[in-house]
Amino acid sequence: MRHLVLVLGDQLDRASAAFDGFDASVDAVWMSETPHETTHVRCHRLRIAFFLAAMRHFRDDLRASGIEVRYAELAADPADDRTRTFAERLGLDVADLRPERLVVVEPGDWRVENELSTAAAALGVPLEIRVDRSFLCSRTEFAAYADAHPGQPMETFYRWMRRRHGILVDADGNPAGGRWNFDTDNRHAFGRAGPGFVVAPPVFEPDAITREVIDLVAARFSGHPGSLDGFDLPVTRDHALALLADFVAHRLADFGFHQDAMWTGEPVLAHSRLSVALNLKLIGAREVIDAVLAAADADALPLNSVEGFVRQVLGWREYVHGVYWRHMPGYATRNALEASAPLPAFYWTGETEMRCLAECTRQLLGHAYAHHIQRLMVFGNYALLAGVDPLAFSDWHLAMFVDAVDWVSLPNAFGMSQHADGGIVGTKPYIASGRYIDRMSDYCRGCRFDPKQASGDDACPFTTLYWDFLDRHRERLAGNPRMQHALENLDARPAGERAAIRARARVWLERAS
Ligand code: SF4
Repeated sequence: MRHLVLVLGDQLDRASAAFDGFDASVDAVWMSETPHETTHVRCHRLRIAFFLAAMRHFRDDLRASGIEVRYAELAADPADDRTRTFAERLGLDVADLRPERLVVVEPGDWRVENELSTAAAALGVPLEIRVDRSFLCSRTEFAAYADAHPGQPMETFYRWMRRRHGILVDADGNPAGGRWNFDTDNRHAFGRAGPGFVVAPPVFEPDAITREVIDLVAARFSGHPGSLDGFDLPVTRDHALALLADFVAHRLADFGFHQDAMWTGEPVLAHSRLSVALNLKLIGAREVIDAVLAAADADALPLNSVEGFVRQVLGWREYVHGVYWRHMPGYATRNALEASAPLPAFYWTGETEMRCLAECTRQLLGHAYAHHIQRLMVFGNYALLAGVDPLAFSDWHLAMFVDAVDWVSLPNAFGMSQHADGGIVGTKPYIASGRYIDRMSDYCRGCRFDPKQASGDDACPFTTLYWDFLDRHRERLAGNPRMQHALENLDARPAGERAAIRARARVWLERAS
């Protein structure tokens, strides 16, 4: 055999560089459902089922096109596993197939890339790692950018990417609509028109392949969190294209206005949920952006919605990918705020009196999904305010979200959300009191806590911990211009009130940890 092309679970792209020069008469594909990848963090069962179902559909499509695929399925019973890791599985198959070379596209996880490189070296087979073309800024391009723009925030990168790719800019490189950023137009609460006015996203009913996977996961991973009921995820490229078309037709126009809103029983609102398809490479970033721009032109869609969506894909997504590869593996060892508390048990169960966290966790257990404000300002906000160990939060994030791959999950959870990187991804800690959650959701209605109160038995834990966080980290935050307003508000509070908040925070954290 000439080349054995390794295709990982988040690389389901027939147009990827892995297939450049592929010759089915002398090359083959290798794919593996690997026990360690489902258990190194305690994965949501829907996440496991989604990856396996998408992989098996991709395998069958390759075989239908005449390609030989060496594929290892998970056994129903872990006792029947022949191997547990990529390296062990590769060892068996390389001994059997004797390829001249292994080929893989850049993996999405530093740990996996290291494991494959080490395994190939031990087996004495060259491993060729090819560029992941699904990103619009490669690892090396980002490194060159970062060298030329040291310490610059995502906003600078985003503008550079807009100009570089000619997206929403005129011939002179000026932004469409005269502004780079429409965030101030995109902070409307939901619900004024009543829940349900957003068209629900399409449902992709499980076929026989997906149902077989669901049965396997139900039997083998019964102790893992999350529900498998109502599996509706896109597991093929056709599904991904249908999801994109549906978003562009029905939700894109409203995306901007409500992108920060949260509402009980409305997990998706006007969000696209395309991250699940993008991160498994069922669809590409450029084709998603092009579809959005084409619809914007044809239907004169609101610029704040179009720019807001482009910012997520061309800005944030590419930026965190670049940051991950520039700073790994040391990135995951940082802990700028020296946080060390354990992750509260209710992150896995939703059993808490805090209605916002209970509702978001209920949604997460059912769908393995929450949109970015639920992740950042409910789950992440509480963990940051409560001083949770950032790695514990990050591992939970990787385990529980269906679209989580390490390159995107780690910088978002660890950097943007928990500020553990000291400001590489976000220029300040993203914290807010219960008042913010009250403004942007309906969660506080019916909650036993009062978002306006910072001390006393009815105090909202977010509000208490918000002021306590500022108090605890006052010296550390004093040099950050973006925190000055919050610190001035803290300083304006009477000493007795600050003492009462501190006392309430201690009582709450002891009770809730
Ligand atoms: Fe969450 Fe506080 Fe609102 Fe309750 S009052 S839902 S704990 S923000």
